[in-house]
Amino acid sequence: MTFDEVGLSEELLKAVTAAGYSEPTPIQAQAIPSVLSMRDVTGIAQTGTGKTAAFVLPMIDRLAQGRSKARMPRSLVIAPTRELAAQVAENFEKYGVNHKLTMALLIGGVSFGDQDKLLMQGVDVLIATPGRLIDQFERGKLLLTGVEMLVIDEADRMLDMGFIPDIEKICKLLPPRRQTLLFSATMPPEIARLAAQFQNDPKRIEVSRPAQTADTITQYKIPLKSNDHKARRTAIRRVIESRDVTNGIVFCNRKSEVDIVAKSLTKHGHDAAPIHGDLPQAYRTQTLDKFRNGELKLLVASDVAARGLDIPAVGHVFNYSPPPNSDDYVHRIGRTGRAGRTGESFTLVCPEDEKLWDAVVKRVQKSVEDFMPEGLAEELEALPSDGGRSSRSRGRRNDRNDRSERSERSDRTEKSAARESSNDKEKKQSRGSKKSRGDSELLPPAPAGPVVGLGDHVPAFLQRPI
Ligand code: AMP
Repeated sequence: MTFDEVGLSEELLKAVTAAGYSEPTPIQAQAIPSVLSMRDVTGIAQTGTGKTAAFVLPMIDRLAQGRSKARMPRSLVIAPTRELAAQVAENFEKYGVNHKLTMALLIGGVSFGDQDKLLMQGVDVLIATPGRLIDQFERGKLLLTGVEMLVIDEADRMLDMGFIPDIEKICKLLPPRRQTLLFSATMPPEIARLAAQFQNDPKRIEVSRPAQTADTITQYKIPLKSNDHKARRTAIRRVIESRDVTNGIVFCNRKSEVDIVAKSLTKHGHDAAPIHGDLPQAYRTQTLDKFRNGELKLLVASDVAARGLDIPAVGHVFNYSPPPNSDDYVHRIGRTGRAGRTGESFTLVCPEDEKLWDAVVKRVQKSVEDFMPEGLAEELEALPSDGGRSSRSRGRRNDRNDRSERSERSDRTEKSAARESSNDKEKKQSRGSKKSRGDSELLPPAPAGPVVGLGDHVPAFLQRPI
């Protein structure tokens, strides 16, 4: 199928040609005609399949007629993270060059004032994370009764991050007569229920998962004898140094590990920077831009921070340990070997990781070769033990401090902060002070690289009552 056949307007076809696309991807070929004919769509697809354009392109065509009113957006896209929301916004800008549509991005870390000004003027497209959207609605800054089209992007990520109640709440604020598009990489029962509740006879479109298309990726396992952080850091360094790495992502399971690994790599002369949800938004954006532009070689990331980010194909993926969920492994290695290019992935596996690793091997249904850079085994033998502070025991301690990947829900934190009365704040401060004393010795080291302001992250010590 060609783009001419999917039913898009001339202006959009021009934008698509300018973007350099010669033909629609399978999800685009199937979704665009259905969206244009006003049908609800459930798209089972993940990032890298072209799913963003599959809803942005027809949405622009549908919105081309009609005008927005103050505080009443005509369409709404909900995305789980700020980066994903920002990415959808970039897509609107790219494909909407020949249209005069207005757009607002409602994400945490951006001042309420600027967002409010835009909303007041009236927008055709509102792209938001759930927390910030509900905030603005509850502040009376927004009316959702004019929404003709709703897109729920990366629904399974929303589920992981605990956003489903927020999505249900938002859906109930929208007019019942609207078009609803839902995209998700997987269809767990909670998402299927959401679709059944808020969609009307949707067309179901499923495109293949990267696990079936990752033949261009060579996967390796680095067997480690012990669960020791120093050994892991040495191993990851030596593996990186043994390959000709142009750009790569080092994935860690915990935010505290992301910080430590990025710091260690930087200390040893590597060009690396961390990205996870506790880092200030400005720093995250800056780091991602650098990585995209080729100014940063190694991105050290958590799964949630990296999920869905449109990062051009990387040559190498390194796993500090296997992820707790084998689907995440597929997402991680799917960052390399895209569009027929070759890529390599390396995973450190110690005896304690074997159970997780077995699940990964079962999931990818491929045999994975062992790899040991020259001299690494001897170097690891010679390492002094880290005093029994195995990654597992340290991980357990850090778990409390790490607040798990779910704390990427910083939008929600902002939301509750905004709602608190001064009384509540005092109560919270005294609670915070107790916690901060307990946590202080567990705080992860400062992130490697420049710290850009405090952003929306207020350190616990600043919240102590006087
Ligand atoms: P997505 O799955 O939306 O994250 O898109 C992944 C990447 O595919 C993005 O960099 C898009 O610019 C690119 N892309 C989207 N549609 C097409 C297409 N029809 N042909 C080639 N690349 C595309």
